[in-house]
Amino acid sequence: MAKGCGRASASAVERTVPEVEVGGLQRDLLTPSLKRVLGVLGSLIVACAILSVVAPRFLDSQQNAIASRPPYAPSARAVDLQRRLRLVDLHADSLLWGRDLLQRNRRGHVDVPRLVDGNVALQAFTIVTSAPYFVNLDHNRAGSDLISLVAVMQRWPIATWSSLRERVLYQARQLGQFAERSNGTLVVLRSAQDLERYLVRRAHDGKITAGYLGVEGANELKNELDNIDEY
Ligand SMILES: [Zn+2]
Repeated sequence: MAKGCGRASASAVERTVPEVEVGGLQRDLLTPSLKRVLGVLGSLIVACAILSVVAPRFLDSQQNAIASRPPYAPSARAVDLQRRLRLVDLHADSLLWGRDLLQRNRRGHVDVPRLVDGNVALQAFTIVTSAPYFVNLDHNRAGSDLISLVAVMQRWPIATWSSLRERVLYQARQLGQFAERSNGTLVVLRSAQDLERYLVRRAHDGKITAGYLGVEGANELKNELDNIDEY
């Protein structure tokens, strides 16, 4: 019986030999050159992942640096004036940079906590859909599109990589989501009636702020004002 078992074991080993050879063959397929290619591909994937985190923040910090950091020391007269005025800021590209605008940020000049602190009643969120790589006040060449790069780096939906319209819709959705998450601190205004209701509410609660959307250049409207309703 023992011998029989021994033969059975030996034949089992023999049957496993081809599998070992198959495994060996698979190992042989990983030639040094293939290993190098896989290594380069792996490195590229890791580099892209790191770049997608680091590059947008670097670009944001370059474009939206704060020249002098707090604490600030405004005069009593300036503070008094700021408290009494109804402040409106007509331009901020804050939706472009992927920051959580419900958090107090160290870049840019707009987020909800600072809008409330600064007694800002109304903030325009101006949507950027296209920009040249090197902005020049005198003239810019057509053809380069910095916002494509920004969209790819920040992992925006693929549709935004080439479509100006999708960039408008994406950034508009971002503002709506900030408002939803703000528990009423940020109000999005879409009509004159919204503005009237908001001002009544704000007369009793100064710790809220409001935003409305703008589209820089309005080039995505294609000369049709009805397209505003889509946004
Ligand atoms: Zn702008």
